[in-house]
Amino acid sequence: MYLRAKQSTTDDETKRYVASTSRVSRYPEEEYEDMRTKNKRRKNESMPYMRHESEGKDNCRQCVHNIERQLIVANGEKTLICLTPFEPFVSGFCHILSKSHSNMSTISADEECLLEMNERKHEICKYFDKRHNKSVVFMETYLKRSHTNRHLTVECIPIKSKYESEAKIFFKKAIMECESEWALNKQLIEIKDKPITRLIPKGLSYFWVTFGPKNIGFAHVIENEDSFSRHFGKEVIAGLLDIEPNKWLNSKNQSYDQQFQRVVDFKNNWKKAFA
Ligand SMILES: [Zn+2]
Repeated sequence: MYLRAKQSTTDDETKRYVASTSRVSRYPEEEYEDMRTKNKRRKNESMPYMRHESEGKDNCRQCVHNIERQLIVANGEKTLICLTPFEPFVSGFCHILSKSHSNMSTISADEECLLEMNERKHEICKYFDKRHNKSVVFMETYLKRSHTNRHLTVECIPIKSKYESEAKIFFKKAIMECESEWALNKQLIEIKDKPITRLIPKGLSYFWVTFGPKNIGFAHVIENEDSFSRHFGKEVIAGLLDIEPNKWLNSKNQSYDQQFQRVVDFKNNWKKAFA
């Protein structure tokens, strides 16, 4: 089914391409009518994007203008690395964010953003490997129906290197068991050093997780957002590291002083590592 879904997307894209490049019309009126319909359709097709741009930006917690400056560790051209405003459920937990609000997910992001994001992943792995002997688990949950989760955010969770192989087993098992009664698509997609954009069809909700700097891990197409926990990835990590649920469910922001204490070491060490 997964392959069929992918195939139909390709077919639809091919049809759209043929329609948009077709110039054959018997009568000028027909051609004009065609253009009007086409323009109307184009306008309608771009509507969700337009709505998203104007609606969510001001209140978006992941947009650069809404992030406290002291939480930003690295500020690139297309991406940011920042620490959370709330107490992290795992020490060193941070986010890689797109600087553009219009990049809603990895699957729909522009190529430059994805390239820089990949560089960020390498930097973060290097940082934690060197200083703390830790591996990093990267993950993204994209829920297309959600109004609060529409800005490309990759969660970065450092874990002790000795837990990495166990983490892979935990995630594989959890994905195999999640929302199994809804499985129209392939339940578990293995990521073997291939861009995620080539593995998940556009327009679907999904979860992916990778381990370390290389693109190796698992993905899952979310069939029913109501039955899939948006904390899925954190729940698996909490199960692995035996962390209490209130640690990741409590997302109340810390005060400036509390944040400052937490981020100052991280930022200083980061500067030293990449000066
Ligand atoms: Zn945003």
